[in-house]
Amino acid sequence: MRRLRVGVLAIVAVSAGTLEAQTLHVDSTTVQYGRFADQRAAILVMIQRAAPRIGLGGWQFAVVFDSVPRRPDAPPGRSAAGVLPKPQLRAAVLFFDLREIPRYGECEIVLHELLHIRISPVLALAYHVTQDHPIVQDMVRGEAHGFVTDLARGMAREGGCR
Ligand SMILES: [Zn+2]
Repeated sequence: MRRLRVGVLAIVAVSAGTLEAQTLHVDSTTVQYGRFADQRAAILVMIQRAAPRIGLGGWQFAVVFDSVPRRPDAPPGRSAAGVLPKPQLRAAVLFFDLREIPRYGECEIVLHELLHIRISPVLALAYHVTQDHPIVQDMVRGEAHGFVTDLARGMAREGGCR
């Protein structure tokens, strides 16, 4: 176990079940690293570098490792990552399950989640106007995910986390 200081990023201990009820609180800069220490550090640095490039400069991020909350309607299986955006606060919680992230796949996954945060206000509006149409909402979610997937893949290939 070693300790590492991280500049603008912070880790908060958040349990997935109580997340919605919690006020986002980001202030600690001391992180305990154990297994996957280098991968965790790499992910934090990637977030720090990539966020300003896609319009998330000045945002605060809390990063939770090894626990990715799931929507009740999600297909079975584990997720490598997820986000809980709070655009009004210019803040978001990012979740990563390091066991599910392929080696050297960190950058694309970080970009993917940051792009989900970036488009979350648009998605919220789309959900609002389609709230009585769950099938359309599923289509909106699928299109957003496809857009984010393609863009993140392209940006990662171009070295978007360096
Ligand atoms: Zn996605």
